[in-house]
Amino acid sequence: MKFRIILSDSSHKWHEDYNVFEVTSKVAAEKYATRMIENFNLGLRPNEKPRKLVRIEIGKDDCKLDHYWEKLNLVTERDRTGSFDRLRCKRCSATARRYGISSIVRDKKFKDEKYISCNPPRIVTVRRKVKK
Ligand SMILES: [Zn+2]
Repeated sequence: MKFRIILSDSSHKWHEDYNVFEVTSKVAAEKYATRMIENFNLGLRPNEKPRKLVRIEIGKDDCKLDHYWEKLNLVTERDRTGSFDRLRCKRCSATARRYGISSIVRDKKFKDEKYISCNPPRIVTVRRKVKK
């Protein structure tokens, strides 16, 4: 999920943007930011000032996850359009080809608009039958 951390130290206020796969809620983003700032403050160098979390902002598109692409091929392949890498989303298993550095073309099977963002399958909880 994408989120923005607004930080301050004794003289500045600034923001940093993150996109972290494991973070899926505002609460989790807050925990993530808090932990990161704590770690930073524990390892302060003489010229660094302790940081403080001001607040977390979640983007409007927070429910639209980007695909979490992983490269499948070891060696770059070629087709009519040029050389490409095969990608698969770790979350929803959509597949695509990446041409150059950033041009990602989803495979035919995932051409539909609904695959623009990631739609991970819901986690199914298995209920055990309780014997009476
Ligand atoms: Zn995906």
